[in-house]
Amino acid sequence: MDPIYFDHHATTPCDARVVEAMLPYFSEVFGNPASLTHPHGRRAANALEDARIAVARFFGAQPAEIYFTAGATESNNTALAMLGEGEHLITSAIEHSSILAPAEQLAKRGVAVTLLRPDGEGFITSESVARAIRPETRLVSIEAANGEIGTIQPFTEIGALCRERGVLFHSDITQAAGKIAVGLHNASIDLASFSGHKVYGPKGIGGLFIRRGVRVEPFIRGGGQEKKIRSGTVNVPGAVGIAAALMIRADEMQPEAERLASIRDEMRERIVSEITGVSVNGPRAVRLPGNLNVSFEKIEAEALMLAMRHFSLSSGSACSSGERGPSRVLLAIGVSEAMAMGSIRIGLGKANTAEHAARFVDDLKRAIARIREISAA
Ligand SMILES: *Cc1c(COP(=O)(O)O)cnc(C)c1O
Repeated sequence: MDPIYFDHHATTPCDARVVEAMLPYFSEVFGNPASLTHPHGRRAANALEDARIAVARFFGAQPAEIYFTAGATESNNTALAMLGEGEHLITSAIEHSSILAPAEQLAKRGVAVTLLRPDGEGFITSESVARAIRPETRLVSIEAANGEIGTIQPFTEIGALCRERGVLFHSDITQAAGKIAVGLHNASIDLASFSGHKVYGPKGIGGLFIRRGVRVEPFIRGGGQEKKIRSGTVNVPGAVGIAAALMIRADEMQPEAERLASIRDEMRERIVSEITGVSVNGPRAVRLPGNLNVSFEKIEAEALMLAMRHFSLSSGSACSSGERGPSRVLLAIGVSEAMAMGSIRIGLGKANTAEHAARFVDDLKRAIARIREISAA
């Protein structure tokens, strides 16, 4: 049996239509988009600008506000690079490592950093952001949705608050983009990071939205591409790919969200009613449609995943980002260390069916019963 992929928060397969759209831009339209003095360069530049227009349209932004990067990690690092000594950054304890690691570095360089704690469902409230704002606060960075427990943050409220208080608002929208509607201007977002490979596009391409008028420090310096914000020859096939991927998401996002949420809800109901010693992590409703995160008593997720080898999914113990130990997101929402070590994250995507989900729950019941029996003996 082919393994079934349930790890769509880690990455998604590149859509065949996206691959097809990209192909001409490797060997036929291969020019350097900065070589505007000749036709090869201009053809590549045109493709790049068309891609920028499509990405901007998807997010309700202006093309000039979209900067291509090598992915959301780089976009997050770039957004944070504006902070200097004496300034204050507000972010949260459950952000992606590509926010938390640079924030830690900034703290060593004299930037004051506040890490907001989520509530028990993973929400960062706008009230908690409001309480943390001080005169030196320059930037608030709160993700739109969490990739482990699926919590969709009140980013529109946080954006309105930041706008009112004259503080810049960056949002890592990587997990939310293409899954739920994110209108960047509607949400008063000043900067946003996103990635191709989380939206059925290619790896190694992403973007940073920078609202017109917002000043950003380049994170990668060199030839001055992307209006000096991101040097390096732009990945034209990648840009064409992320644009194609988002155009497909515009059509498929809504029906897919409904379908996946219903499969997810059915899975959750079965797991909770047919297995003992279970708890569901994260919110019940305001949650990414394909996300489910559950903890099992007296279970090591690593052992469970070995027993369920034909499903590709993540556990709450050794995170995909290479971190060790129990998931810091689960600990931050108050899950005990033991329950965090016994948790799994299911990330459904467009190829998943109700039948995959049913088979998964059947196997899960058996595997848990067997592991508990062995450890009781
Ligand atoms: C995957 C992910 C990233 C990193 O994106 P890359 O394009 O792989 O660098 C950043 N933030 C979140 C929330 C993610 O899920």
